[in-house]
Amino acid sequence: MQKLIERAARDLLNSKYAVALTGAGISTESGIPDFRGPSGIWTKNPEAETKAYRSYETFLHDPKKWWEERLTGPNLLGDLAGAAPNAGHYALVELEKVGILKCVITQNIDGLHEKAGAAKLLEYHGSVLKLRCVHCTLRFRPGVFDLDKLMAEGKLPPRCPFCQGIVKTDTVAFGESIPQDVADMSLEEAWKCDLMLICGTSAVVYPFANLPRIVRQRKYENQWKTETGLSRAENQSSVTIIEVNAEPTPLTTEGISDYLITGKTGEILPQIVEVVKKLRK
Ligand code: NAD
Repeated sequence: MQKLIERAARDLLNSKYAVALTGAGISTESGIPDFRGPSGIWTKNPEAETKAYRSYETFLHDPKKWWEERLTGPNLLGDLAGAAPNAGHYALVELEKVGILKCVITQNIDGLHEKAGAAKLLEYHGSVLKLRCVHCTLRFRPGVFDLDKLMAEGKLPPRCPFCQGIVKTDTVAFGESIPQDVADMSLEEAWKCDLMLICGTSAVVYPFANLPRIVRQRKYENQWKTETGLSRAENQSSVTIIEVNAEPTPLTTEGISDYLITGKTGEILPQIVEVVKKLRK
């Protein structure tokens, strides 16, 4: 384990453009359950998954009803507003501060990377800390709208003050497309990076799970170009994919990642940061 932590620290130090991908696993140590881990919400209650898929259909057909249900019903993930970042989130911020990590792309909607102080953050599935106009994709802090008053007056859903489009939570519902802006920027980061640090995701939710696969494809193309003499080896940057996860994932078993560091992100990531700092001295 220690050897892999040192290897990851060296790989990060040698990288020119490192990007982190994160999933629900990085937030379990903040008390937010994941979906597919051993104690995950879907693992324990498969029916909840079917129900979640129906929610977006309700939004499309009856946004007023959808908003009323959201404002009065329980949240599937519990009290996200009260959750605080853990050592894993802060370790990624440290890597950003020393100039190694250039961007965090998260599937998480819990807002914990933002609360930890992540500077360049792409929230692929949106954030509970924001609302979004489904027409023009403008984001708002929830306080911009008095949602309780709108409900009391029968004026839900809220409307975008700029284009009059319907406003929903920024979180991407099951069945809803990834907002174009964040999808494009994430793709760009996957094309740019020479190291991808993947933390706490089962990597089975698409299109997010395509991002490491795109990076792996680039690595194969680089190798092929070098082997066939289409391009000189020194012109090809190498690409490294590291996983930090509690268990192996399809990325591990399909050989997408170069190596897996098995364990909790809240424990492993701070150790990597420590070695990075030691080696930089
Ligand atoms: P997932 O539940 O499918 O997988 C989580 C992975 O992390 C599992 O492999 C699990 O073994 C691992 N894991 C759990 N705790 C860990 C820890 N402390 N350290 C390291 N690894 C740990 O999660 P996913 O791949 O992110 O996909 C779930 C989808 O549901 C995402 O799209 C996300 O938007 C959403 N979701 C978000 C949250 C959140 O915002 N915190 C929570 C649950 C689900």
